[in-house]
Amino acid sequence: MAGKGNENVTYVDKSGKRLDGRKVDELRPIKVDVGVLDRADGSAYVEWGHNKAIAAVYGPREVLPKHMANPYKAIMRVYYRMAPFSVPEHKRPAPGRREIEISKVLSEALDAAVLTERFPQSQIEVHIDILDADAGTRITALTAASAALADAGIPMRDLVAGVSVGKAGGRVIADLTKAEEDASDAVDIPMAILPSTKEVVLLQMDGILTKEEWKDAHELAHKAAEKVYNLQKEALRKRYESAEAVEETEEIAETKEEVVE
Ligand code: ADP
Repeated sequence: MAGKGNENVTYVDKSGKRLDGRKVDELRPIKVDVGVLDRADGSAYVEWGHNKAIAAVYGPREVLPKHMANPYKAIMRVYYRMAPFSVPEHKRPAPGRREIEISKVLSEALDAAVLTERFPQSQIEVHIDILDADAGTRITALTAASAALADAGIPMRDLVAGVSVGKAGGRVIADLTKAEEDASDAVDIPMAILPSTKEVVLLQMDGILTKEEWKDAHELAHKAAEKVYNLQKEALRKRYESAEAVEETEEIAETKEEVVE
């Protein structure tokens, strides 16, 4: 929840620096890795500042119970969960209302990207576990989930880049931390964007912005999405290149074995 906080904190100082030294449009350090799990069809791990998320994809596969199947498209089943140790006060392990709501909005965002019409009568399952949380976990989750879907070879219109923009201390900023989300005037806007068409597939808003502020925030969001997109593509490229290298090595080994025989 935004807006609980301290009015005496300077969220952006005179030199334009934020509490953690970032500029207003600067994102926290982001790391994306794909193919991190052996047993899932696709997987990804994302570190975004202090947030850590791991996503695993299974499918397309049979829908159970069968009557839930859609004859025209695959259904996206998304499970966003926060580990009990991901927040300062140990969270109850059972999924709460917040996790169920976030799973639903993530599923809608991913549904807009995946070519679900290619897989009627089936389901695509996405499990995302948040291991560490510091605001922005739903967009970290989406960034990991869409990279994991690509890793699973699921056809998509585009990757989904998660970003968050908003306001703290009277300034429009990108990628709010928990400390910034707690500013008394905080506005938090998690968004998901298909970067190649600039289509927005998720937009939630906690707080109020003026029209001018929204214009700035919107611009920051699209710039941020481009950066996230490049990191996702880079991670997939690295994975693909290393998979190719392994295949080549195996082929060479096989050829050598044939020669020996
Ligand atoms: P998001 O993580 O997508 O920004 P919220 O705005 O609901 O979602 O949550 C903001 C932050 O509040 C979380 O990232 C986490 O740091 C913290 N938080 C959420 N739920 C809990 C909880 N049950 N206990 C403690 N902190 C929480």
